[in-house]
Amino acid sequence: MEKRYQIGNKTFVLDEEKAVDAYAAKKVINGRQTMTFNLLPLKYQWAYDLYRKMKANHWEPEDIPMQKDVEQWQSQYELSEGERWIIMMGIGYFSAAEGIVGDNILHVVRELVTAPELKLVLGRHAHEENIHADSLLYMISSLGINPHECEAMFEQIPTILKKNEFVSEISRSMRRDMDLSQTESKQEFAKNIFVFGQCMEGTQFYGLFGMILSLYRQNKFPGIGQMFRYTLRDESNHIEVFRNLLMDLVEENPDVWTTEFREDLRALMGEAVELEKEFIRDCLPVNAVGLTAEEFCQYVDYISARRMEGVGLKPLIEDVANPFPWLAEMMDIKKEQNFFEGRVTEYQKASSLTMVSDDEL
Ligand code: MN
Ligand code: FE
Repeated sequence: MEKRYQIGNKTFVLDEEKAVDAYAAKKVINGRQTMTFNLLPLKYQWAYDLYRKMKANHWEPEDIPMQKDVEQWQSQYELSEGERWIIMMGIGYFSAAEGIVGDNILHVVRELVTAPELKLVLGRHAHEENIHADSLLYMISSLGINPHECEAMFEQIPTILKKNEFVSEISRSMRRDMDLSQTESKQEFAKNIFVFGQCMEGTQFYGLFGMILSLYRQNKFPGIGQMFRYTLRDESNHIEVFRNLLMDLVEENPDVWTTEFREDLRALMGEAVELEKEFIRDCLPVNAVGLTAEEFCQYVDYISARRMEGVGLKPLIEDVANPFPWLAEMMDIKKEQNFFEGRVTEYQKASSLTMVSDDEL
């Protein structure tokens, strides 16, 4: 029997029996391995939907004007030393971090998942890390910062080094042919997904995001601030990709989710939060953006609690208030007016096609 499947504005006719088999063979891990990118029938609808949403948010660094940022950077009076330091730390840290995330997707996560729609969204995720890395190059070249000075930052500043080591180790330990039939190795993989999605992109990125957007709110570095707002919008999708990936992995492999393992994940988040707080104190040795290091540390506790709840884990600290309610508003750029001569809006129109699931047909 034949059955119609609709995806976006396209309709496909599949042999029902074969489609049922192909669907059943799709798994987060240990599913059917195939070189043909057989997206149909879709099993992980969220992955396809997120792929389209991510594509609709496409942006290019060069579309963002940097004149004002350059003027401020070159002026001797407009900025404090503390404000310059935050920009240097932001560029220094993210130059390394974006690369580490992209590398882990390509060499670990995208390698180990088996369902094609998961590989599809992870390919886009890795590409967005390339865009972010490119946006940092654009900032470095616009401001005339010595790239070697930036590189030196992630080799010589201990709090950056420690944050990078924390995630790189988890990524490195997975680069071998892994037999994912064992609970222990499945847990290693789940740990990687949790650390990269919820601890790193989900929590450790937010200290600097908050600081740079605080500057932006005071009309300092409007171009850099804009790029970080777009980056942040992308990151929120990346966190969602990894959150769904973890949830589905656990659902299909309940042996992973032991009490002990959940405690291990809580401990890893605890470590990530501590590293982030040390890093925040390095970024804000003095009160530089009109906000204190303590407030940013509280913000990180608040964000970390949201991430833990998102994956069904008990937060490290419950009932932490968000010290920066204005930040949520600044992160929400959905309602923003045309920024690059309407380009973002156009992309969104093109891909906001309706999705009809097969039971509706
Ligand atoms: Mn990124
Ligand atoms: Fe990311």
